[in-house]
Amino acid sequence: MLKVSRQPSGDPEIFLSLQGEGNTLGMPTAFLRLAMCNLSCSWCDTKYTWDWQTHDQDANTMEMSVHQVTDAISVFNSQRLVITGGEPLLQQKELASLGANLSQLGYSIEVETNGTLTPSADMMATVNQWNVSPKLENSSNPHDGRVASLAIEAFQKMECAYFKFVLVTQQDVDEVERLVSKYMIRRDRVILMPEGTTASELSNRADWVAALSIQHGFRYSPRLQISLWGNTRGR
Ligand code: SF4
Repeated sequence: MLKVSRQPSGDPEIFLSLQGEGNTLGMPTAFLRLAMCNLSCSWCDTKYTWDWQTHDQDANTMEMSVHQVTDAISVFNSQRLVITGGEPLLQQKELASLGANLSQLGYSIEVETNGTLTPSADMMATVNQWNVSPKLENSSNPHDGRVASLAIEAFQKMECAYFKFVLVTQQDVDEVERLVSKYMIRRDRVILMPEGTTASELSNRADWVAALSIQHGFRYSPRLQISLWGNTRGR
């Protein structure tokens, strides 16, 4: 069974939208949001998927079989799927089965991950793009929890992995540079993105994140979903 985020309506957080961030920005795609995370970022905008101190676990999660999730995704007019969370790789055994089902149906699959868990061979076989977002010191997670060398090295070797870093201050780019250098990450696979859950927060940071992207030879990503719809579940 997969532990899936449940919307206030009671429906699973499986929806059709646009990819709002990263390499495939703007592409229409189905989304599957899973529950549970192994980190606790201070600025996390999906705490309802894992923070059971401030959110009711039963109200915000539901269990679905791989078959049920496959059916729920198949109703959309899209052959693309983004699996997000939470941290999806906490459920990679079940996800590998889901991926195998959807691959047979011709889907292209992206997985968003915090880059702390190494994907299994079965999981890798079904994923077309990894959106890896290692967390920086600005997330307030302890270093050893947020930087997992084995996992980052595994993703670094994959042609289909992109590394997206969330910046809160301009100084954060120094930490990005240290990680890029340490793990020999290709610069054309590095994406800088401003932190923010409102259009005004994002626009306040957009100028300097864009300038740093140009200066350091990294890519830039907005958070299109926030600009279009605000911080709304199921969009
Ligand atoms: S890794 Fe992602 S889901 Fe987990 S706490 Fe951080 S921002 Fe939230």
